[in-house]
Amino acid sequence: MTDAVGFVGLGNMGWPMARHLAAAGLALTVFDLRGDVSARFAAEHGATAAGDIGKLFTGADIVVTMLPNGKAVRAAVEAGLAAAGTRTGRLLVDMSSSAPHETVELAGVVAAAGYDLVDAPVSGGVVRAESGDLCILAGGDAAAVNRCAPLFAAMGRETFRVGPVGAGHAMKALNNVMSAAGLLLAAETLLVGRRYGLAPETMLDVLNSSTGMNHATRTKIAQFVLSGTYASGFALDLMVKDLAIAAGIAREAGAPYLLGGLVTSVWELAKGQVPAGSDQMVLVRWLEDLAATRLAHDPAS
Ligand code: NAD
Repeated sequence: MTDAVGFVGLGNMGWPMARHLAAAGLALTVFDLRGDVSARFAAEHGATAAGDIGKLFTGADIVVTMLPNGKAVRAAVEAGLAAAGTRTGRLLVDMSSSAPHETVELAGVVAAAGYDLVDAPVSGGVVRAESGDLCILAGGDAAAVNRCAPLFAAMGRETFRVGPVGAGHAMKALNNVMSAAGLLLAAETLLVGRRYGLAPETMLDVLNSSTGMNHATRTKIAQFVLSGTYASGFALDLMVKDLAIAAGIAREAGAPYLLGGLVTSVWELAKGQVPAGSDQMVLVRWLEDLAATRLAHDPAS
């Protein structure tokens, strides 16, 4: 691949994703707002650190963004375009979880500067970003999505082209409603069982062999709750952002969203009551506190 790639946002997800691009031998320049992060990445993984966002946009044929939300993407892109000017044949790939209507708007802004836009949010969390096994949900023209193939192959296991620009971001938010609901209900159910006298490990074994199984019972509860870390690498604030995006899509769609609305309210309530910057798994600790019960076996008891 001859395209020069710029990668913006070296956080929990962006760092391992960009690492896979560097390992695949792509010509890679990186930038993050946090001072020394780009230089550290460049030194460790053989990329170039851009001194500012303008330099990154100026040198890149394809710019990938992995930022907290669509507003951060818009700010980064506007600053980049101001320096890079107009040249046709370039591509912006927003892999963040952004709101679809902001993405469609952004596609118009970047088109005027010669960029196609592909929204390509991901599922699989930090664990699958580290192993290069992400599931990629792409929205955009088929030709533009195809141009991303070498990047997606380096970062992901599967890519689904789900529709036009914005469709990837819509699909991602809807996936995360299911994920947020699954974690909430798994934690509540396990806490009820624990207080009844059932062992969490036994309940997980049964659920994972039964119809109640979901991603939380299969991986998250054992990995991040029974282990006592409550640290999945995905901020609770980011999940609440995704739920707000999904609620907006549901409002516009005019379809029933009864349980989705309730799930959103519970996560928002938790956000107001847990420390700022908490991981999504702190939702479970918040429920444990309400139940005055821990799911993990307490060695002292
Ligand atoms: P993060 O907060 O760990 O990383 C965001 C990075 O962006 C930070 O390093 C920050 O300094 C940088 N940044 C912010 N604004 C910037 C700007 N204008 N220019 C340059 N850098 C900027 O977040 P994350 O967990 O890596 O998530 C990134 C995106 O991926 C979010 O949209 C999130 O919803 C989504 N996502 C996260 C996970 C996960 O498990 N963490 C999984 C799937 C999707």
